Amino acid sequence: MAEQEYDYDLFVIGAGSGGVRASRIAASHGARVAVAEEYRVGGTCVIRGCVPKKLLVYGSHFAEELQDAANYGWTVGDLKFDWPTLRDAVLKDVDRLNAAYTTTLENNKVERFLERAEVTGPHSVRLASGREVTAKYILVAVGAWPVTPSFEGAEHCITSNEVFHLPELPRRVVISGAGYIAMEFAGIFNALGCHVTVVNRSETLLRGYDESLRDRLLQITMARGIEYKFNSPFDKVVKREDGCLEAHLAGKPDPLVCDLILVATGRKPKTPGLGLETAGVELGENGEIKVDDTGKTTCDSIYAVGDVTDRVQLTPVAIREGHAFADRVFGGKETTISYDCIPSAVFSQPPLAGVGLTESQARNAFGSNIKVFSSDFRPMKNIFGHRPERGLYKMIVDAGTDRVLGIHMIGPEAPEILQAAAIAVKAGLTKADFDATVALHPSMAEELVLMR
Ligand code: NDP
Repeated sequence: MAEQEYDYDLFVIGAGSGGVRASRIAASHGARVAVAEEYRVGGTCVIRGCVPKKLLVYGSHFAEELQDAANYGWTVGDLKFDWPTLRDAVLKDVDRLNAAYTTTLENNKVERFLERAEVTGPHSVRLASGREVTAKYILVAVGAWPVTPSFEGAEHCITSNEVFHLPELPRRVVISGAGYIAMEFAGIFNALGCHVTVVNRSETLLRGYDESLRDRLLQITMARGIEYKFNSPFDKVVKREDGCLEAHLAGKPDPLVCDLILVATGRKPKTPGLGLETAGVELGENGEIKVDDTGKTTCDSIYAVGDVTDRVQLTPVAIREGHAFADRVFGGKETTISYDCIPSAVFSQPPLAGVGLTESQARNAFGSNIKVFSSDFRPMKNIFGHRPERGLYKMIVDAGTDRVLGIHMIGPEAPEILQAAAIAVKAGLTKADFDATVALHPSMAEELVLMR
């Protein structure tokens, strides 16, 4: 089939972070682009992930700020919180972003199909309406979807897809899982006054983050009233006649009684039913699309970016992958993505953030040839707020070259501070470079240049 015989140069399935970026950039290179989206333009991050979550974090944080205000001379009347007001304001902002992303596509002359699309061959997709379209290239950017382990009564639980729409704030919440979503919503619900119990199958929370930070988060959140049940997989959930839920945990005689169960046990590539087999696109064990370094699948005309490839499930990574794909395929620019030193953060309360190797990863790679510096301090804000909570910053250094291998921090504003520090780690700066930088006083970030 000659090039001009295709309906489009690029057909993108999924208008999330990666798909929208790829569409826009490909169109700016002159490609004729169409995108199909079965739900709302914007994807997980904008519609039911990072953005609304961060707004809920901000909203819940006022509890602490308002309490602290009295120490600064403010008289704050009776504190009342109205969940529907926050929920609806957040959902309104999601509408705003949905419209902004749609405008971006329109402005770039990307044709939109607000319906599901499935692959029917190397150059063809079928829309839910039954229409069949062809494209020289197809980009699959459908993201991932929450996984709920199978246990009796799972239908009574919700996932992060539904949590933004709760009709009312639950009094008691049980959260299954102790990863990103679990710890972020544990913080939100706890700050809003709900009783929170985090239940995990293992004895680990936030696997992959530096151990000292995870311990610190555990201590602080327990002191704030969050309860933990580790090594406790769900056995079953029972809905009682009074509407309450019972979470029965394996090996535990008494169920946890609560009003809401949020399951946050990971997300799986959303490939089922996508027709990828019709084009010979191979999937991995977790249903992820196998791609090479350029995002190409096992079919030469089909590419994939973002969570559906299950490499690094983070929005900025999907955006980079989408951008690089469009530049490479339609702009003639050879762009490579470096997956080294990707900073990440958990918007728990307090938040934590990290970049580069953790202490245990560095020990595995470098043996005893590393130096670990740390600063364990009580932020000024907490002293004045009569809160005993301490921040902890850690820097891991290659003892041979003095190069900083990783920085990990927990404490107020840790993600904001870490983003800047990540530039230094990515650039390969040394501990001596940090030491040579004058502190910015008084700040929490100054601890980064004062570790001796
Ligand atoms: P995570 O992978 O972060 O955590 C999953 C949790 O569920 C872990 O505690 C894990 O336990 C547990 N778990 C996994 N499988 C099972 C199972 N079959 N039965 C019971 N428990 C299980 O997943 P999330 O759902 O929290 O988040 C999904 C992804 O979304 C993250 O990995 C991240 O990439 C992204 N995300 C990023 C955010 C950010 O950047 N701030 C915020 C939210 C999400 P164990 O560790 O013991 O195996």
